[in-house]
Amino acid sequence: MKEGINIIGAGLAGLTAAITLARNGFAVTVFEQHSDVGFRFNNDFQGLENWSSEVDVIQEFTEMGLRLDFDYSPYSDGLIFTPQGEVISVKSSKTSFYLVSRGSRSETIDYGLKRQAEECGVVINFGKRIDKYKGRVIVATGPKSGDIIASGITFETDAPDIAAIIFDDATAPKGYGYLLVSRGRGTIASVLFREFRKADYYRTVCIDRFKSRLHLNIRAERKFGGFGNFFLRKHQNRNNKLYVGEAAGFQDYLWGFGMRYAIRSGYLVARSIIEGFDYDTAWKRSLRPTLEASLANRYLFEWLGSRGYGYLANKLSSRDSRDLLNKHYNSSFAKRLISLVAARKYSSRVKDSECNHDNCSCVWCRCVQNGQLGVVRD
Ligand SMILES: Cc1cc2nc3c(=O)[nH]c(=O)nc-3n(C[C@H](O)[C@H](O)[C@H](O)COP(=O)(O)OP(=O)(O)OC[C@H]3O[C@@H](n4cnc5c(N)ncnc54)[C@H](O)[C@@H]3O)c2cc1C
Repeated sequence: MKEGINIIGAGLAGLTAAITLARNGFAVTVFEQHSDVGFRFNNDFQGLENWSSEVDVIQEFTEMGLRLDFDYSPYSDGLIFTPQGEVISVKSSKTSFYLVSRGSRSETIDYGLKRQAEECGVVINFGKRIDKYKGRVIVATGPKSGDIIASGITFETDAPDIAAIIFDDATAPKGYGYLLVSRGRGTIASVLFREFRKADYYRTVCIDRFKSRLHLNIRAERKFGGFGNFFLRKHQNRNNKLYVGEAAGFQDYLWGFGMRYAIRSGYLVARSIIEGFDYDTAWKRSLRPTLEASLANRYLFEWLGSRGYGYLANKLSSRDSRDLLNKHYNSSFAKRLISLVAARKYSSRVKDSECNHDNCSCVWCRCVQNGQLGVVRD
């Protein structure tokens, strides 16, 4: 057995790192503050995006050695509702995203990874919260405050499987509303980048719009909500702590599709330990270009605003929608320039006000930064 590695947080990033390390002979211990995995989710549906890379995300997971031990369904078509009242249909020849569920049930992606981790000997200490840590550790603690929030419901329905999006600032300011239905279960949420205090109001507006336009019947409705963080920084190896997933600010800045980044960064940090390469160099090479492109996309999306969302929807419907999105996630000189401007515009809410900055051992501290999304001063 090789050296022992400790990981804080049993989310997608932490569990992927744990599985990869344990399979390569490391003794891995994970500390998780809750009594099970997936605690911050509600068995709601999420989309595992398949557009930010040419490689299919499921193939990517398989190549990482992850078993597809959870329910997932491919979606390639969908509907977009515009502020102008149009309903636009979009299609792709490939899978645009895979629908997965999140939470503590057996079929969720969280549980699938937990099963694999335990099978390969990872020790998960549930109910153990770690706020300070001295020594080498992987920090996979997820988001700490909301730069983006989602407010929605899960429900049962007789409706057929469907994916639909509303782009309209009157339903989700600078964000979007989504409806996902699979095999009699559904999720609706409004994803907000502004006006967080009005989350209840926007959730109701979003549900009403989907209900009235699609004549949805909804039963056994349950509310849920959550938040996400994003920021972009220079180093993820800080004071012997290796940051992954949303604890590292890795998120899709455009629409908040963070799962793929969480899993990729968990795998990458594990490989860096196994093979002895520098984690900072590796994530900058493989994750940073897409992160920057998504940041530029956010800037452009906000600039479009409600009047431009119809234009975007029409663009997506006139082409293969997945291919068009893929093109917009490619790094380019223009995207880099826009991302630099965008980085000045957005500021993350994550700040550790309790840290005294001396020999900092806080697991999620960003004390050497000033909280700006794009600031890279460490
Ligand atoms: C409502 C909602 C909808 C979303 N929809 C999508 C979507 O459709 N597609 C998509 O790709 N992404 C989506 N996301 C984002 C995605 O869920 C996250 O980006 C992803 O889960 C991040 O994974 P992670 O491993 O970094 O963090 P998490 O999954 O949050 O895991 C972190 C873990 O660390 C634990 N932890 C935290 N602090 C401590 C501590 N101090 N000590 C011990 N344990 C600790 C937590 O309890 C948690 O289990 C959504 C998020 C929300 C909230």
